[in-house]
Amino acid sequence: MGVSQPPDHLVGIARMAAEAPCLEPKRRVEYFELGARSYLARVNSARLPFRWTINPYRGCEFGCKYCYARYTHEFMEMRDPQQFERKIFAKAFDAERFREELRGLPLGETVALGTATDPYQPAERRYGVTRKMLQVFAGIGGLRLGITTKSDLVARDVELLTEVSRRHYLTISVTVTTVDCDLARALEPMAPRPDLRLAAVRTLADAGLKVVVGCAPVMPLINDSEKSLDALARAAAAAGAVALWANVLFLKPCAYQVFLPFLEERFPELVRKYRERYERAAYLRGAYPEMIQERLEKVRTRHGLDRKSARPEPELWPHDPQILLFDP
Ligand code: SF4
Repeated sequence: MGVSQPPDHLVGIARMAAEAPCLEPKRRVEYFELGARSYLARVNSARLPFRWTINPYRGCEFGCKYCYARYTHEFMEMRDPQQFERKIFAKAFDAERFREELRGLPLGETVALGTATDPYQPAERRYGVTRKMLQVFAGIGGLRLGITTKSDLVARDVELLTEVSRRHYLTISVTVTTVDCDLARALEPMAPRPDLRLAAVRTLADAGLKVVVGCAPVMPLINDSEKSLDALARAAAAAGAVALWANVLFLKPCAYQVFLPFLEERFPELVRKYRERYERAAYLRGAYPEMIQERLEKVRTRHGLDRKSARPEPELWPHDPQILLFDP
């Protein structure tokens, strides 16, 4: 079942999305296949620690209440923020084309997989685009690759990720906002439980992979207490993570539209404070983020965690100024 006859005014990615064939209709979520002009997207912000991003999927079924990426569906003229978690687009994958794109990058280039949507969301079990991409990474060498996920499905790929780490600097970041399962269920209704994510950290760390845990976002008066961060740091260290990082919540309009009704329902006593803090600016600046970083430093020190992972040079790192090709 496809979406029939898109309106004439739709162009570019919005037209492609409207014409995308439906891969499988489900009651809550629909899956579509989306053509991709290129798999790598260049990052223009100097503040971010990577030059290129890859997102195997558009939309994300995990439906986190604070998700900042909902605006990406607006590029496809889908303005209801709920559509981000109900209409999921798997990128049509061409391994040869992807390999050529990667080969065009300079040696040591930084690439982040899963910046806007989760590469191990439920669609990955069906379509495996992330796994297919990792198989291509395993056939070349010489990049700095970061993968971010909130899913224990990442442990499925432990052997493949081990191969990738022999050829690239690889960091896997598993996001855990809280170890409190009830709170996590409320905030991230369709994402795997925190204990399952931490079990995945254990599996990856036991295989010798560098895994960091990210507390993102830290939400004022919800998961920002020293007690909450300490419990997370303890669990991350026990699971074998080497580092812990955190980002304070920011609320762009598309996220604000979903987060505020959530607060009204679950934390009505916080609504006024959030309105005061976020109504005028999406980002909190100054004393609060500084206080969170100090608190984080304290719990990191207490549990022997670093700020980021230090990685030894990969066994098969190429020394020519070129991305290395390995025999398929
Ligand atoms: S896992 Fe990430 S991309 Fe998916 S809904 Fe949650 S915050 Fe958004």
